[in-house]
Amino acid sequence: MSYQPSADRYKKMRYRRCGKSGIKLPEISLGLWHNFGHVDVMENFRQILHLAFDSGITHFDLANNYGPPPGSAETNFGKILKEDFAGYRDEMIISSKAGYTMWDGPYGDWGSKKYLVSSLDQSLKRMDLDYVDIFYHHRPDPETPLEETMAALDLIVRQGKALYAGISNYPAAEAEKAIGMLKKMGTPCLIHQPKYSMFVREPEQGLLDVLGNEGVGCIPFSPLAQGLLTNKYLHGIPEDSRAAKSTGFLQESQVTEEVINKIKQLNALAEQRGQTLAQMALAWLLKDERVTSVLIGASKPAQLADSLKALDNVDFSSDELQKIEAILG
Ligand code: NDP
Repeated sequence: MSYQPSADRYKKMRYRRCGKSGIKLPEISLGLWHNFGHVDVMENFRQILHLAFDSGITHFDLANNYGPPPGSAETNFGKILKEDFAGYRDEMIISSKAGYTMWDGPYGDWGSKKYLVSSLDQSLKRMDLDYVDIFYHHRPDPETPLEETMAALDLIVRQGKALYAGISNYPAAEAEKAIGMLKKMGTPCLIHQPKYSMFVREPEQGLLDVLGNEGVGCIPFSPLAQGLLTNKYLHGIPEDSRAAKSTGFLQESQVTEEVINKIKQLNALAEQRGQTLAQMALAWLLKDERVTSVLIGASKPAQLADSLKALDNVDFSSDELQKIEAILG
C-alpha cells in the first residue's frame, strides 16, 4: 500500500522560529549525510523518512556530496519524494549545500560563484526539484572573496532556485561579516549550521551571540557527536556502527578510553533523568533558545524514535548542568 502520512503528525512536534525570519523549523530535523547513499539500503531509509514525516519532522538536510557516492543521497531522496511524498512538497523545508569537493578541476570545490551556481543546478536535477528551501555555503573559502560567495547566494535566491540563504562551518567573525553582506544585498541569512554538541563547544565562544544578535537561526549538526553521545559505544564498537563501517566518517581511533569514560558518566546522569543519553544530549542543546533545531542523523527507524523522545524533557536543573560540566571537564 502506498504511504499515507500520519494525520496527527503536527501535534507530535514543536516548532521554533528560525531567527527573526518567517520560517519555523521542527525542534528536531533530519540530515541525510550518512545512511541514504547508494551503499545503504533503500527500504531502511525509506522507513526512516516515513517515521520522520509522521513525527512532524518537516526539515530534511542534504548537500551535493552526501552519499556515498557523492550525489547519491540527493538522488535517493528525490526518488522517495516522488514515490511517497508527492503532494507534500509544500509541507517540507529541503536544504542543500555546496562548499566541499564535488567534481574534478578548479570549479568543483570551495566558494566561487561558478561552483555554487552549477552545483545547485546539479542538486536540483538529482532531487528533481524546482527549488530548495535553503541553500548553504558549506564551509568558508580562504581564497575566494567573501563578497563573491555571498553574491552567489543572493543571485541564487533572486533566481528562485533557493528561497533562503544559509552558511555552515563559518567561525563567529566570518559569520558576522557574511551576515552583514547578505543583509546589505537584501537576502538576509536565514540560518547558520555549525558543529555543536556536548563534545564540541566552539559555538559558545561568540558564534551563538552573533546569531542571537543578528536574528539568524542556528541548527547544530552532529548533535550526538556522530553517535558517540548515545549508549552504543558503552561496551565496545558494534559492527553496524558508523565507527566500524568503512564508509563512516567517525574513526575507531576517536572512540578513546577518555571518551568512553565521559560517555559512561553522562549515560548514568541521563538514566537518573529518565532519558537515554541520546535524548539528554539533544535536550541539552535545545535548552538554548538561540538553537532553532537540532540536526540529527539516524541509521535505523528505532534510533530516530529514541531521539525524538528527547522533546519530552528539555528542562535541566542547575545541579544537573553543573554535573554535566564537571563530567565534560
Ligand atoms: P548525529 O550526531 O546525530 O549522529 C548520527 C548517528 O548517531 C547515527 O547515524 C547513528 O550512528 C547514531 N545514532 C543516532 N541516534 C541514535 C540513538 N538514538 N541511539 C544510538 N545511536 C544513535 O549526526 P550526524 O553526524 O549524522 O549529522 C547529522 C546531520 O548534520 C547530517 O546528516 C547532515 O545533514 C548534517 N551535517 C552537516 C555538516 C556540515 O558541514 N554542515 C557536517 C556533518 C553533518 P550509527 O550509524 O553508528 O548507527
